[in-house]
Amino acid sequence: MEPDDDAVYKTLLESTRAIPWKIDWKTLKFAYIGPQIEALLGWAPSSWVSVDDWAERMHPEDRAWAVDFCVAQSKAGVDHEADYRAMTKSGQYVWIRDVVHVVRNEDGSVDSLIGFMFDISERKRTEAKLLDMQRELEELSFKDGLTGVANRRRFDAILHQEWNHSRRTKLPLSLLMLDIDYFKQYNDCYGHLQGDQCLKQVAAILSTTITRPRDFMARFGGEEFVLVLPETDEDGARQMAERCRDLIAKAQIPHARSEIGSVLTVSLGVGTTVPGKTDEPLMFIEAVDQLLYQAKQRGRSRIVTSG
Ligand code: GH3
Ligand code: MG
Ligand code: MG
Repeated sequence: MEPDDDAVYKTLLESTRAIPWKIDWKTLKFAYIGPQIEALLGWAPSSWVSVDDWAERMHPEDRAWAVDFCVAQSKAGVDHEADYRAMTKSGQYVWIRDVVHVVRNEDGSVDSLIGFMFDISERKRTEAKLLDMQRELEELSFKDGLTGVANRRRFDAILHQEWNHSRRTKLPLSLLMLDIDYFKQYNDCYGHLQGDQCLKQVAAILSTTITRPRDFMARFGGEEFVLVLPETDEDGARQMAERCRDLIAKAQIPHARSEIGSVLTVSLGVGTTVPGKTDEPLMFIEAVDQLLYQAKQRGRSRIVTSG
C-alpha cells in the first residue's frame, strides 16, 4: 500500500458513521479504535485500552452473554456479530451492533479481531414501539392470544347484548363461571409453559360444549372461563355445567399436585336471571362469581347454582 493510500483509508474509516476498531488477540488490547467513538459514547479513543474497558462499558445485563459469546466465537475463529447496550460516559446506554471479523495467521491461529460498531438505538426504539403497538392491538382484539377463544372484551359485549335481549323477551339468561382447581400448583409442578398448554386444552374442550348458535364461551382471564347461555333456564344451565365438568374429568389431564385427586378438575358457579329495568350485568357477574367461590369453599370439583 502506498503512503497515500493509507491516508485515504484512514480518512474513509474515520468519516463513516460506523466505528472501526482492532484488537490484538495475544494481548487483548485495542490496536485501534475510530475517533467517532467519543462522539457516540463520550469516552476518548485513548481510554479504550483493553477488552476489559469494552466489557466494563456494557450494560450489566448484557455483559455476561455478550463477552462469553464474542470470546467463544473468536476462539473458534468464527466471524460474528452481537447486539448489546454500551454505557456512555454520562451513564446512559446506547444500543450497539458489533460486527466482528476474525483475522487469522497463516498457521490458522487467531491474530486479531477487527470490527465495526453500529449505533442501532433508533432501530431498537422502533422495535420497542412495534411491540407496544402489538400489545395494544391485542387488547383491542376480541380473541384471547393464548387459547384463541373469545376474550374478556368480547364476553363483555356479548353479555351486554344478551342482557338486553333477555330483559326485553323475559326469557332466562344463564351464566357459567369456571375456574381450574389448584392451578397454581399445576404451574409449580409442571412449569408455566405446560400450564399454558393445559389452558389451551381446557379451552378446546369447553369449545366442544357449544352447539347452539347463540351459546358463547370465553376466557374470562387467567385460568377462568365463562359461558353465556341465552334462553336457558336453571336446569339447562346445570346440565351444561355438568357437561363441562365431566368432559374435563374425562380428559384425564394429569395433576400430581392437586389436593383432591390426580387429574385436573374445575369448579363452577351457575346463575340464571331475567334482568329487571335497573339491574346491571356486573351485579350478575359478581353474584355468579360468589357461587363459584362457594364451590371452592365446599371442596372444589363441584357445581354451585343459585337455585
Ligand atoms: P383454586 O383451586 O382456589 O382456584 O386455586 P388456584 O391455584 O387455581 O388459585 P388461583 O385461581 O388464585 O390461581 C390462578 C393461577 O393461575 C395463578 C396463575 O399463576 C395461574 N395463571 C393465570 N393465568 C395463567 C396463564 O396464562 N398461564 C399459566 N400457565 N398460568 C396462569
Ligand atoms: Mg382463579
Ligand atoms: Mg383456580
